[in-house]
Amino acid sequence: MLVKRGIAVSPGVASAPALVLGRDLLQFSRKSIRPDAVDREIGRFRQAVSDTCAEIATHADEASARLGDKYGAIFQAHMELAQDPLLLAEVEQLIVKQLWSPELAVQTVLQKQARTLEALDNPYLKERAVDLNDLERGLLRHLSGKDTNQSLVLTEPVIILAHNLTPSQTARLDPKFVKAFATEVGGPTSHTAILAGALEIPAVVGLGSFLHQVSGGEVVIVDGDEGNVIIAPDEAALKASEKSARSQKSKDLRLKKLSEKDCYTADNVRIAVYGNIEFPHEALHCRERGAEGIGLYRTEFLYMNREDEPSEEDHYNAYLEVVQTFPDRPVVIRTLDLGADKVPGMMESVFSDFTNPELGLRSIRVSLHDKERFKKQLRAILRAAVHGDIRVMFPLISSLSELREAKSVLRDVAEDLLEEQITHRADIPVGMMVEVPSAALMASEFAKEVSFFSIGTNDLIQYTLAADRSDPAVARYYNSADPAILRTIKMVAEAAAKAKIGVTICGQMCSDPRFVPLFLGLGIERLSVTPQAIPEIKDLIRHLTTRKAWEIAVQASEMDLAREIDQFLLGEVKKMLATGDEEE
Ligand code: PEP
Ligand code: MG
Repeated sequence: MLVKRGIAVSPGVASAPALVLGRDLLQFSRKSIRPDAVDREIGRFRQAVSDTCAEIATHADEASARLGDKYGAIFQAHMELAQDPLLLAEVEQLIVKQLWSPELAVQTVLQKQARTLEALDNPYLKERAVDLNDLERGLLRHLSGKDTNQSLVLTEPVIILAHNLTPSQTARLDPKFVKAFATEVGGPTSHTAILAGALEIPAVVGLGSFLHQVSGGEVVIVDGDEGNVIIAPDEAALKASEKSARSQKSKDLRLKKLSEKDCYTADNVRIAVYGNIEFPHEALHCRERGAEGIGLYRTEFLYMNREDEPSEEDHYNAYLEVVQTFPDRPVVIRTLDLGADKVPGMMESVFSDFTNPELGLRSIRVSLHDKERFKKQLRAILRAAVHGDIRVMFPLISSLSELREAKSVLRDVAEDLLEEQITHRADIPVGMMVEVPSAALMASEFAKEVSFFSIGTNDLIQYTLAADRSDPAVARYYNSADPAILRTIKMVAEAAAKAKIGVTICGQMCSDPRFVPLFLGLGIERLSVTPQAIPEIKDLIRHLTTRKAWEIAVQASEMDLAREIDQFLLGEVKKMLATGDEEE
């Protein structure tokens, strides 16, 4: 049994056989085959072996011609492995007897052999393990026809272990079969992590290199609460994981019941708790968990699992579904936040060349760059707005001129719709995300020109502390409890209060119970959180008085170390919940 520690990004505990995707993402689509397909699959495997051997021979010839025969001979070792009758027979056995796909069989057999060699104390044999890894990649590439972008079609539960998953790959995972995933890279507020939460798939990221220590088919436990991944767990660990999954389920049920009513603090101050969504169908998940509207709809995910550009009708239908789920509650539609790590396959050519996409053409900048796409979305928003309380919000605003330009496009769109006599609502509230330090610093000026702010802590932290939100190497610098972050949020909340406009927090920080008393103490009365967190956050608010929240905010503001603030906030929440439970 091997325990790896990473960053817990989506709660829940699950155990299932591993499906190892390695660096070549989503490389194979099938895990098992039908009995009548055995001959065809054996044929496919043999063809892949012969193509791989031909490729090795070409590499050997090229190396000999360019560098000399001595180098060409290196490939002889690869060739011997690719033609090893015992190895090939073992793969074929799994295809014939277990009805495994050739891809899964190749991965399982070759990784097992590689690990056996790696464990030996012999440098020569250790090298052969690397050869086996190369051979495995070559065979998988030939088997997949080099199409690395196809969806996984699964028929039984698995846990996906991968070097990395992009948001669009994550968006395609089927929660019915993907019980959890764990990746070597990734950060706590990366979009992949956010999607895992949206799909309600337990996930751990940022584990560092570990894929070479696990074989496909081996049982693993992913603990998305603690951030642990256990490879080949023993009986006791399996039992503990099952117990923890059961007790989580019963706690969820209890909190769900309590969360159905609107939310008030213990001293009767109304706090609105909204849901964050990426897909329209999640609006229903939010409503079922007691959300009082949608505080953040990340519309760019409309682009994620498709090959073509969404039409105005696609946008409209998605917004309609959300607003019909919440016909008399606020629904905040954020305009496209494309770019950075949210790059759909069809747009890769536009974005892929930039070395620092988080600081590049992203979000509102993309929308203002391509006004036709932006207008299409705004038309759909204004049309859907006749069906409920829709509000529009611009992401990543960094200057007043940018905000004014976006608002002017919105006005143009309203005029066009009027001229075309298309039913719409032009006077919807217009808000902006505060997620760039320049916007926070200029909050008083911005507050005069919008109806509401929504503080996006995910980006605000990465830009304030210069720590990429997706990079585990800088995860320790990406600190939500940093005093600079608290100060920035306070400044924005004060500017909003002075201008008498609403302010919501919608970053992941808000789904973490630790920070909720602090936000309330800073005068923030609207929180927008991931659907799964809604019942727990509402429960916490019920245990809290505004006086206590204010005291916590004052005390935290006097501390100057992130670690100190973190410990203090955690201790306060623990105390609060313990007292509350005694009272119940
Ligand atoms: C944020 O940055 O906090 C936010 C909510 O936006 P996103 O996570 O989609 O970038
Ligand atoms: Mg953001």
